[in-house]
Amino acid sequence: MTHTITVIRGDGIGPEIMAATLHVLDQMNLGLRYEEADAGLVAMEKHGELLPQATLDSIAKNKVALKSPLTTPVGEGFSSINVQLRRHFDLYANVRPAKSFPNTQSRFASGVDLITVRENTEGAYSGEGQQVSEDGEVATLVQKITHRGSERIVRYAFELARKTGRKKVTVVHKANILKSTSGLFLKTAREVAAQYPDIEVNEMIVDNTCMQLVMRPEQFDVIVTTNLFGDIISDLCAGLVGGLGLAPGANIGENAAIFEAVHGSAPDIAGKGVANPCALLLGAAQMLDHLAMPQEAERLRKAIVATLEARDQLTPDLGGTGSTMSFAGAIASRL
Ligand code: NAD
Repeated sequence: MTHTITVIRGDGIGPEIMAATLHVLDQMNLGLRYEEADAGLVAMEKHGELLPQATLDSIAKNKVALKSPLTTPVGEGFSSINVQLRRHFDLYANVRPAKSFPNTQSRFASGVDLITVRENTEGAYSGEGQQVSEDGEVATLVQKITHRGSERIVRYAFELARKTGRKKVTVVHKANILKSTSGLFLKTAREVAAQYPDIEVNEMIVDNTCMQLVMRPEQFDVIVTTNLFGDIISDLCAGLVGGLGLAPGANIGENAAIFEAVHGSAPDIAGKGVANPCALLLGAAQMLDHLAMPQEAERLRKAIVATLEARDQLTPDLGGTGSTMSFAGAIASRL
C-alpha cells in the first residue's frame, strides 16, 4: 500500500535534517509519497501566514505528517504553531520514547528504554484561563482536567504497552496536593488500568518520579501523565539518553498524527550542515510504526544504532566531525 505523507521542512536546521531523513527513507524503498507543505517563518515569507490553510488541508487529507522544527516569532500575537496544530487536529497523545544509544556521551549509555505518554490538550499547559490582575500583583491560572481527556490518554498508554509488548505502566500524578485535577486523573487511570490485568500498573508522585528517573531509570517502561508533568519529564528523559539530538516525538489524534524531532530549529547552527538528523529519523521510525510497518521501523532504528556503534560520520554534537548528510549516508549504508 502506498502512503502519502505531508512533509513540512520547517525553519532553521529543519530543511537540512528533513533532506537527510528523506534520503534515508528513499533508500528503504517503502513506496512513500511526499506532499510538501509550508509552516513557520518560511510560510510567513511565502504566504503571509505561519500556518496556511493549505497545510492544514494537506494534513487532514493525508492524516500523517513528518514535520521539522518551526520557529515561532517572538512577540505579541504569535501563538506557538505546534500548539495550534495540536489543537486543530486534537492530537491528544504526545508519545516520546527515550532509549539508551551507544557513543552518545550520555549519563546512561545503556539500560534506559521507556516511553512517556503525555496528555497533550488540557491541564496547566494548555494556556487557557490565564489572568494577571490590572495592578500586576496577582496572577491566576485555571487548570482543567476532564474525565474524557484522562480516560483516552491512559487508554492510549495501556494499548501502546500491549501492542509493543511492554509490561508496566507508571501513572504519574500529584493527587496528594492537587486533589481535584490530578485526583481526577488518578481516579480515571485506576478505572482504565483495571481493564488491563495483563499489564502491571504502579502510581508515582511526580517529584519522586523525577528522582527515580535520575537514579534508576531502568525501572520505567511506559509513563503516562498530564500535560505539564509530561512536558518536563520527557525532556528529563531525553537528557538521560544523550540530549535533544536523539529525541523524537509523535503527536497522535483520532484523525491525524504528526511526527517530529523534539528539538527546535537551532538557529545557532542553521545552514552549516552539521545538525544531527537522528531525532527526526527516529520520529520517522515512529511514523513507520504508526503506518503498520513495524519491521521497517526496526530496520531504520537498527541502522541508526549500528552507525552510532561504529562512530561513523557522527555529527559534532556527538563528538564526531561528520555532516548532516554524511551521517545520513552512513545510516543509509547500514539499512
Ligand atoms: P533548540 O532545540 O532549537 O536548540 C537548543 C540547542 O540544541 C542549540 O544549541 C542547538 O544548536 C542544539 N540542537 C538542537 N537540535 C540539534 C540537532 N539536531 N543537532 C545538533 N544540535 C542541536 O532550542 P531553542 O534554541 O530554544 O529554540 C529555537 C527555536 O526553535 C525557537 O524559535 C523555538 O520556538 C523553536 N522550537 C520549535 C520546536 C518545534 O517545532 N517542535 C520545538 C522547540 C523549539
